[in-house]
Amino acid sequence: MISSTEYAMIVDGQSVAAQSGDSFERISPAHDVVVGRYPRGGSADADAAVAAARRAFDSGPWPRWSGAQRARVLRRVAELIERDLESLARIEALEGGKPITQARGEVASTAELWWYAATLPQHAYGDAHNAIGEQYLGMIIREPLGVVGMITPWNFPLLIVSQKLPFALAVGNTAVVKPAELTSGTTIRLGELCREAGMPNGVFNVVTGPGRDVGQRLAEHVGVDMITFTGSTGVGKRIMATAATTVKKVELELGGKNPQVVMADANMDRAVDAVVFGVYFNQGECCNSGSRLLVQDGIADEFVARVVDRAALVTVGDPLDDATLVGAIASPEQMDTIETLVGEGVASGAELLLGGNRQASETGRFFEPTVFDHVAPDMSIAQEEIFGPVLSVLRFSDVDDALRIANSTVYGLSAGIWTQDIDQAVTFARRAKAGTVWVNCWMDGFPELSFGGYKESGLGRELGRAAIEEFTELKTIAIRTGPRTSWVDGVSR
Ligand code: NAP
Ligand code: MG
Repeated sequence: MISSTEYAMIVDGQSVAAQSGDSFERISPAHDVVVGRYPRGGSADADAAVAAARRAFDSGPWPRWSGAQRARVLRRVAELIERDLESLARIEALEGGKPITQARGEVASTAELWWYAATLPQHAYGDAHNAIGEQYLGMIIREPLGVVGMITPWNFPLLIVSQKLPFALAVGNTAVVKPAELTSGTTIRLGELCREAGMPNGVFNVVTGPGRDVGQRLAEHVGVDMITFTGSTGVGKRIMATAATTVKKVELELGGKNPQVVMADANMDRAVDAVVFGVYFNQGECCNSGSRLLVQDGIADEFVARVVDRAALVTVGDPLDDATLVGAIASPEQMDTIETLVGEGVASGAELLLGGNRQASETGRFFEPTVFDHVAPDMSIAQEEIFGPVLSVLRFSDVDDALRIANSTVYGLSAGIWTQDIDQAVTFARRAKAGTVWVNCWMDGFPELSFGGYKESGLGRELGRAAIEEFTELKTIAIRTGPRTSWVDGVSR
C-alpha cells in the first residue's frame, strides 16, 4: 500500500506552508502514484528562511555554544536517523526510484556522516605564532562563515545534504537548504529530526520549491555568506556566476564521467563485479558512476564478455522489492537524456552489446542495463555524463595510453585502477586528474576522506578535516604587548 504524505517547510523551527499557499506533488517514478505533496516555496519563502538563519547566527545560541554542546546535538541527530532508518529509506525509494536495499544503505551512511561530523566541533582550532618578535603574539583563528545556503540534487537526497549540513553546523554556521523538487521528503524529515534533537530555531531551515526561484534567490541573497551546491555542471556554473555579485564563498560538487581502468594483471573476478556495481548502482544516476570502462588490449575481449554476462544478471524492477538492483529512472527528462545519448552511441558506430532500451512496464520508467563496446574517446557516450545505467567500454595499450584517455574529458571527479602492480597503481593515482582515485576498489567512501572534483567536476572539498576549512573563515589577530615607539616623536612609552 503506497500512500501520499503531506510535508511542510521548516522556517525558524516552525513547520510552514509556502507564503503563496501553492504546493506541488511528487509521483513515484516506479509506481506512477502520488507519494508526496510539498509547499511550492518562492523567493519570499527563501527570504524568510535566510532572515531566520541570519538571526540564529547573529544573535542566537548556536554559534556561541561550545563545540561540546553542538557535538551533543549532532550525535542526537545521528541516533534519530538510525531510529528512523526504515521510514527514511522508504521515502528515498518512493521519491527517487532507487532500490530499497540501496536506500537503506544510503540512510545508514548518512548516520555515519552525522556521527563523524559530531567529532569536529571541538577541532575547529587555528594556529598561534609565537616567533614573530618578543613583543608580539599572533593568532589565526577559525570562525564560522555565517549563513550557508545549500542546494542539493535528487539522486542521493539525504546523503548529499548530510555531506554538507552537519559539517557546516559543527563549526557554528546556520543553514538554509533547498532540496531538489523531485526528492524533498527526507530533507524535510531531517529538519524535523534536527528540531527533535534540540537544535535551536532558525539554525536549520528547509525551503522546498523550484531551483530557478528558491535556489537562485539563495545564490543572489546578500544575507547568505556561502553557497554549497551539488548538481549538474551547467547549474553549478550559473550559481557561481550569481554568487559573484555578492562575493560569496562557493563550493561545488558537479558531474563526472569517471573511468575505471582495468590493467591486464588485474584480479578479474573482483574487477568485473566492481565494474557492474560501479555503473548500475543507483540506476547509474550517480556522480561517481564508473560510466567509462577502460580495459587493456590483451584482456579486453574476455573481460568485456564477463562484464556483459554479469550485467545480464542485474535485476531491474520495483524499488520496494528487496531483490531489485536497478530501480526506476527518476524523471521523464532523465529518461530522455539517457535515450538521446544511447541513440547517439548507436549512430556513432559504437557496438551495443547489451540493453539499450526502456524496459516494458505497466507503471513507471525503467531502463535496461546497457553496455557499449568499441567506444572512441571523442564520442558523446565517452564524453558526456549520461546519468543512467549505460557503460561505455574503451580500450587502451599501456598505462600512459590509459591516462591519456582517462583525462580526456572536461570532468575530473573520480577515477579507478585495477592492477596488482604497485608501480602502475601509483603512476595512475598520481597522474589521474580526479579528486578521488580508487585502487582495486570503486566508490568506497568514508566520512574521514575528503571528496570533491578536479576541473569541471567541482570546486572545494567536502568531508574529512577539509570540511572544517571549507565551512570556516580565517581571522588573523595580532597582539602587541609592552611599550610602543611613537610614530610622531620617537619616544617609547
Ligand atoms: P541540477 O539540475 O543541477 O539540480 C540540482 C539542484 O539545483 C536542484 O535542487 C535544483 O532544483 C537546483 N537548481 C536548478 N536550477 C537552479 C538555478 N538556476 N539556481 C539555483 N538552483 C537551481 O542537478 P540534478 O539533475 O538534480 O542532479 C544531477 C546532477 O548532479 C548530475 O550532473 C550529477 O553528476 C550531479 N551530482 C554531483 C555530485 C557530486 O558530489 N559531485 C553528487 C550527486 C549528483 P530543482 O530541480 O528543484 O529545480
Ligand atoms: Mg535538473
